[in-house]
Amino acid sequence: MIIMFETGVSDTAVVSASQIASRFEGITPRRYDYDGSLQTVTELHLLGATEAVPTEVFQSLPGVRKVVRISARYRLVGRHDPSVESPGFKYNGVNFDDRGVKIFAGLCAVDTRDHVEQTFQELAKHNLVTTRMGAYKPRTSPYDFQGLGAECLPWVFELAGKYGIKVISMEVTDAHHIDEINRALEASGQATGVMLQVGTRNAQNFELLKQIGRQKTLPVLFKRGMGITLEESLNACEYIASEGNPNIVFCLRGVKSHLGDPHRNLVDFAHVPVVRRQTKMPVCVDPSHSVGSSRVAPDGISDIFHAMGQGLIAGASMVLVDFHPCPDKALCDGPQALKIPDLPRLIAYVQRVRSAYEELIAL
Ligand code: PEP
Ligand code: MN
Repeated sequence: MIIMFETGVSDTAVVSASQIASRFEGITPRRYDYDGSLQTVTELHLLGATEAVPTEVFQSLPGVRKVVRISARYRLVGRHDPSVESPGFKYNGVNFDDRGVKIFAGLCAVDTRDHVEQTFQELAKHNLVTTRMGAYKPRTSPYDFQGLGAECLPWVFELAGKYGIKVISMEVTDAHHIDEINRALEASGQATGVMLQVGTRNAQNFELLKQIGRQKTLPVLFKRGMGITLEESLNACEYIASEGNPNIVFCLRGVKSHLGDPHRNLVDFAHVPVVRRQTKMPVCVDPSHSVGSSRVAPDGISDIFHAMGQGLIAGASMVLVDFHPCPDKALCDGPQALKIPDLPRLIAYVQRVRSAYEELIAL
C-alpha cells in the first residue's frame, strides 16, 4: 500500500500517518521523498502484508491525496496515480521531466581530444549543454576498440567545462567505473556532470544495477534490454530505485528480432506511451542504436530522424544520438553517426515534432 501526500505536506502529517501505520501488526512504513524538477512528491510505503489494513484510515488524514493498494511490481518507479504529473528530477542545473526534450548528441566512443573538442564546440554553437561520450565500450568482439577508459576522463571533463556542457551520458560496465568517474569529476573541480548509462547488455547485471542505485549523486540512463521483456527491464530499474536512487531515465533503443530486420534492431518506440503509463520515469529514445545506419528515405529524411520522430510524437522527452565530427575516423559506430551539418537539422526536427506533439495533446 502506498500513501501519496499533497505537495508541501507537513512533516507532522507524514509522521502521524506513519505512526498509525506502525500500529498494524507486521507493517513497516517507509518514507520516500522525490525531490523533482517540477514538484516534491512524498510517499509513505507500507511494507508487509497490507491486506488487512483499511485504506480509509489513511484517506481521511490531513495532507493525504490518495491511498493506493499496489499489486504493481514497480513500487518505486511505478506511476500509481495517472492523473499526477511525474515529478521529474534536476541534475547539475538540467531538468529531466516531461515538459520538454533534451538532446544528448555526442561520440559513441571517445577517441581523440580533438574530436571531443570539435563535438563540444558544435554543441555549444547550438546552445546544447547535454551530450553522450563513451569511455567504457562493451563490444561484441574482444578485438574491437574497447574505449579509452579512465585515461580520457580528465580531458573529456576539462573540455566539457570549457564549453559549458552540464551533463554527459556515459556508459559504465563495472562498478569501479563509477569510482573512476567520481574521482575524475572531483579532480576537474566538478567541471561537468555525468549521467551513468546502463547499456542494453547490462540490463540485468543486478550487481551493477545495485551499485549504481547505491550512489545518489549521479542520475541514471537505463537502456532497455534488447532481448528481454519490457517488464524485465522495468524491474531492473526498480532494482536501481530500491537501492536509493530514483533519478532514472528509461531509454528505448530497439530490440533484437529474428526477422532479418533491415535496421540494426527492431524500433520499439511505440512503447514510449506504455512506459509513461506504467512508470514515473522520463522516456528517452535512441534512434542511432535502433536504426544503425545513416540511410536516407526517398523523402530525403534519414531513417534515424524518422525513427526519432516516432518516439517524440509519442511523448519521449530525451533523445540520445551518435554524432561525430569525422565519422570516417570514428572507432565505433561511425556509419550511424550524425555529421556536423546534421546538428541544426536535428534540433529543428526535434523542436517541430515536439511542438506537433504538444498541439496534439491540446486537441
Ligand atoms: C551506446 O549507447 O553506446 C550503446 C552501446 O548502446 P546499447 O547499450 O543500446 O547497445
Ligand atoms: Mn554505439
